[in-house]
Amino acid sequence: MELFFLGTGSGVPSKERNVSSLVLRLLEERGTTWVFDCGEGTQQQILNTNIRPRRIEVIFITHLHGDHIYGLPGLLSSRSFQGGETPVTVYGPRGLKDYIDISLELSGTHLRYPLYIEEVEEGELFEDEQFIVEAVKLEHGLESYGYILKEKDQLGELQPDKLKALGVKPGPIYQRIKNQPRTVLEDGRVIHRNEVIGPPKKGRKVAILGDTRYLQHLAEVLKDSDVLVHEATFAGDEEKMAYDYFHSTVKQAATLAEKANVGELILNHVSSRYQGDSVEELLDEAQTIFPNTTIAYDFYQHPIKRT
Ligand SMILES: [Zn+2]
Ligand SMILES: [Zn+2]
Repeated sequence: MELFFLGTGSGVPSKERNVSSLVLRLLEERGTTWVFDCGEGTQQQILNTNIRPRRIEVIFITHLHGDHIYGLPGLLSSRSFQGGETPVTVYGPRGLKDYIDISLELSGTHLRYPLYIEEVEEGELFEDEQFIVEAVKLEHGLESYGYILKEKDQLGELQPDKLKALGVKPGPIYQRIKNQPRTVLEDGRVIHRNEVIGPPKKGRKVAILGDTRYLQHLAEVLKDSDVLVHEATFAGDEEKMAYDYFHSTVKQAATLAEKANVGELILNHVSSRYQGDSVEELLDEAQTIFPNTTIAYDFYQHPIKRT
């Protein structure tokens, strides 16, 4: 599980930072990638990486401001040209379906893969064997959401010592024992999985928020996230400006991370007014409140380890 930031700037592209997009690579977990927002130029950024658009399975759109969606029709269209055949689901606020349908229709674009568009409300979006994904409502100029991904706990590792002690020799039988609660051996003996397996691997919790004012009450739903990705459009002393423009300061993001007891905070959506040394100052401001903070930059990759 790895985050790959493609665009980390706010509003308009700059030479240093493209507009919003980031990818969660789940190659080991499910052989796919999930995309969060798709600002203009996202395809161009992808060309500089080893990300494969045909692996995209889900796209989450936080809100419909242009710096988060102007790259979406192009990416969907190119994926078709590049041989993407597996279905894609796009989640996002009301209006998303019109935006995509009209863009594709008026431009005469026909996708060669099934596309599902789900307009979201606060609450659970889906659950499968691996993940539960929820949307939380934020406060921004347009309807805006954060997405919270909860990975389910997974089976622990088989303990070869215990199996050997039971006289079970290594081989394909090990996989069978792991795959089912109870396995009957050739000699008629029964092996119960829970007796030969280590402790479960704890699932990870990842929260990726869209543009928002500081919302203290989010500490509850973000509680104990392994990673929180939060916008940081303004410096710490720009609280009024942040409020007026429906954004957050670095200090506010760090405060929320601290209150929610998250493992790591990654800041993105940085205004182009901050460059070079002033980005370092933003980082200092955040770290005085929440030390385990990183400010993402374009092409920054961040593995999410199990704790
Ligand atoms: Zn934005
Ligand atoms: Zn916005």
